[in-house]
Amino acid sequence: MHNNIAERLTSAYQQIAEITAKCQREASTAQLIAVSKTKPVADISEAYAAGQRAFGENYVQELVEKAQFFENRTDIRWHFIGPIQSNKTRDIAAFADVVHSIERAKIAERLAAQRKPSQAPLQVLIQINISGEASKSGVLPTEMLALAKVINDLPQLELIGLMAIPEPAVAGDNPQAFQAMVDLSKQLTTIYPQANQLSMGMSDDWQQALTFGATMIRLGTAIFGHRETTKHE
Ligand SMILES: *Cc1c(COP(=O)(O)O)cnc(C)c1O
Repeated sequence: MHNNIAERLTSAYQQIAEITAKCQREASTAQLIAVSKTKPVADISEAYAAGQRAFGENYVQELVEKAQFFENRTDIRWHFIGPIQSNKTRDIAAFADVVHSIERAKIAERLAAQRKPSQAPLQVLIQINISGEASKSGVLPTEMLALAKVINDLPQLELIGLMAIPEPAVAGDNPQAFQAMVDLSKQLTTIYPQANQLSMGMSDDWQQALTFGATMIRLGTAIFGHRETTKHE
């Protein structure tokens, strides 16, 4: 493991280039989201100095504090990837650029109503419960299209794809879940061709996710090192 954030980013981007080349994809079709949850703003600054612009946060309060801290760096894109309670949607609508974790129509409707018309539409992904009973988060695959329709009818939201956090049967090895997500993505893009993003793959399994066609990989530990468990967890 490299010992600083810039080196870890360089290494991850090199691997992304190698894997996408093997899959005959442009490297630009895979976006690395640096998951900075629980990490201090100094770590985000270090990643930013190394060229990183997409950051992922899980906790609304942290998203707000960090987005405000970096408000002059208007090229940062904040990805909200955590569970959403309905009393937190206003802050997410105000500070996030992309939300990966939509699993209820009510949350989508609140985000749309609270997104200011002066802002760009909020880009959203539907979180899929791809591991069945092993996971409590996300909609079941059979519920995907109904939620997609709700989102598509909301002008302040832009549906861009699907997200999953598979429960690994074996750490780092999720072929069934990744393939199932690819199949669902095909179903979704038949109706909504622009909703072609696939957010899957974390520090332990992102290389495999990428070979299956992930377009957004969410890397925390692999970029920022291990997290202390916090009051949130
Ligand atoms: C924490 C988190 C990540 C990053 O996890 P690592 O294993 O540290 O890479 C990615 N996605 C979500 C939704 C998370 O909560």
